[in-house]
Amino acid sequence: MEIVDAAEASGRGALSILERRGSALDAVTQAIVILEDDERTNAGTGSRLRIDGRAQMDASLMTDDLECGAVAALEGVRNPILVARKVMETPHVLLVGEDAVRFARRMGFGPYDPITPASRERWRESLERIRSGRLPPHAKRWRRFRDLVGTVGAVARDSRGRFCAGSSTGGTAFMMPGRVGDSPIVGSGIYCGPAGAVSVTGAGEEIVRRVLSKDVYDRMARGRSTRVACREGLKLFPRTVPVGIIAVGADGPAEACNREMAWWTNGRARGRASHRIV
Ligand code: ASP
Repeated sequence: MEIVDAAEASGRGALSILERRGSALDAVTQAIVILEDDERTNAGTGSRLRIDGRAQMDASLMTDDLECGAVAALEGVRNPILVARKVMETPHVLLVGEDAVRFARRMGFGPYDPITPASRERWRESLERIRSGRLPPHAKRWRRFRDLVGTVGAVARDSRGRFCAGSSTGGTAFMMPGRVGDSPIVGSGIYCGPAGAVSVTGAGEEIVRRVLSKDVYDRMARGRSTRVACREGLKLFPRTVPVGIIAVGADGPAEACNREMAWWTNGRARGRASHRIV
């Protein structure tokens, strides 16, 4: 459990906001900033690199009044989740690529290089595996090959009963430039409404196909317990596909995952970070 302490630190940061009667939105934002700044996670500093050696990051936030903001393929910014939060203040939901970077700069986010020696090294290893054909037997296509270290996400319910969900990632291994996974896609990587908040991680393409966060949310809205909704969501996937789900509803928090991916940090808020699994 190499980065459990990161999830714990992020949970503590979020909880200190909730204990001061802060909002679920502020708590989730803070939880994710802490995880993005921890270079062991695959979000913000330390993000995975595309096959061309660039870091393109995705992040999203959503609150129970259906307000949302997201960025995809964002480069040269320290905290993508803070840019996603600024997108919430615009009439739009998702900004991508160079225009998202321009928006970030206009909002005062200065240039920053999120690439670390470790992420550069992982990238070199990945290229070497591609070149030498040393992919595992199940890696017939990249999308079936996973080498994940810590996409991050958080869900929270505040003292007023308001919910928020968020997610941030550098993506997965062996990504083409411009590839976008589930994390910034409302309904796939996150969903939030009056019945609760859901944030998921894992094989982005498989999650998008199943619109997983909205699926789990809908189960909660239909009266399923948060725990059962998470478990039923997980059952949509074959075991070969890594998936982690965290959610909080009126009945409290729950998680479901088929790898070591989701951790308790306290009774009301959770951080999550996925693990190296290959
Ligand atoms: N879900 C993320 C993506 O596909 C990757 C991950 O969870 O590690 O972009």
